[in-house]
Amino acid sequence: MDHNPLPFITTKRLAVKLKPAAEKMVKKHHPWVFEDSILKQNLEGTAGDLVIIFDNAKNNFLACGLYDPYSPIRIKLIQFKKAAQINEAWFKEKIFQAYELRKPLLLTDTNSYRLLFGENDHLPGLIADVYDNVLVIKLYSHIWFPYFNWILKHLIAITGVTTVVLRLSRLLQTKGDVYGLKDGQIVYGELKDEVVVFREHGVLFSANVIKGHKTGYFLDHRHNRKMVGELASGKTVLDVFSYAGGFSVHALTGGAREVVSLDISKHALDMAKSNAALNPHKGTHEVLVADAFKGLQSLIDAQKLFDIVVIDPPSFAKRESEIEKAKNSYARLSKLGAQLVAQNGILVLASCSSRVLADEFFSISEKNIMDTGRAFEVIQKTAHDVDHPIGFKEGAYLKCGYYQL
Ligand code: SAH
Repeated sequence: MDHNPLPFITTKRLAVKLKPAAEKMVKKHHPWVFEDSILKQNLEGTAGDLVIIFDNAKNNFLACGLYDPYSPIRIKLIQFKKAAQINEAWFKEKIFQAYELRKPLLLTDTNSYRLLFGENDHLPGLIADVYDNVLVIKLYSHIWFPYFNWILKHLIAITGVTTVVLRLSRLLQTKGDVYGLKDGQIVYGELKDEVVVFREHGVLFSANVIKGHKTGYFLDHRHNRKMVGELASGKTVLDVFSYAGGFSVHALTGGAREVVSLDISKHALDMAKSNAALNPHKGTHEVLVADAFKGLQSLIDAQKLFDIVVIDPPSFAKRESEIEKAKNSYARLSKLGAQLVAQNGILVLASCSSRVLADEFFSISEKNIMDTGRAFEVIQKTAHDVDHPIGFKEGAYLKCGYYQL
């Protein structure tokens, strides 16, 4: 039976032409059109209106997208080159394509995955993460409300989940019409416990799908955590910026002798503790509430060494003006981390700032490891797991280097 939490919302069709530079980007299938790139627009738009972009020279169809009056990214493009009806069948097909891409992951012992990754799955500002039989939809834009009932229906159909939780970004909680929907609202089924337990390559975790960051957990590092788990047998491990213990818990279940999780948030470390407790392990697990830079320095001062050090900070460059400072932070972390790695140990350095490109990040990491006088060998460099496809430049945010020192 169809489940329609939203009333029918009418939308209009707008015709738009763009300034030449923006038109070029659209021809390259870039999904963002900024408000100041619009040259001509026939009607005033409201959230979710369908916008057809015509080319200046020949008036041909270039792309279509959805109008977002609340964002400087005024039009979010969803279809390029070939015109299409943006109807229920279109959404069904997009969701099907996204699901097909994730199938290899679903053959592993994993029941948590990102089914929709916004722009990278042609649905800008729309995230859908599955945790066992709970789906969490997180909306970052008002454009999706007119289409929400269709999206919900086909997400439920393809995943077979029994519960759907809606999360709204801060923007949606403070601006514009959200049709009475609330952050954390259950839009399908029932949620018995807001803490949902799920598997990631055989390791159990839990996420608070109502109060957790983003949709409750960070799924993007799954393959890196698995790798750390495989390297950890008999080892000592330091997990810096551990959040809910993604790397720590894989290390413990992989047979690590001792794991230290370091984070500035006590709440995150409580989650790390309870996630560790979900899985049988013999090693010890310590948590350290500290600022990473200070905490790492104190460990160096105490002459501690670890066989594996993982450093996976939050995004340091949320805006253009922060790029230089972010690079400086990566440099400092590489230097601090390298001093804590035992002989032949492994330093794992990650970055999720899309504004710092992979090559730059790796060269900063490598230069600063060398500056500590340690020789290293690159074991591996990785990007996103398969459920985070990269559909455009800004979608490629995650990089992770493994260095044996
Ligand atoms: N490595 C984690 C994800 C990290 S998210 C995983 O695999 O899931 C970033 C974490 O950094 C958050 O838990 C946040 O509390 C923590 N954090 C942010 N600033 C910090 C700081 N200055 N020192 C230590 N931790 C910090």
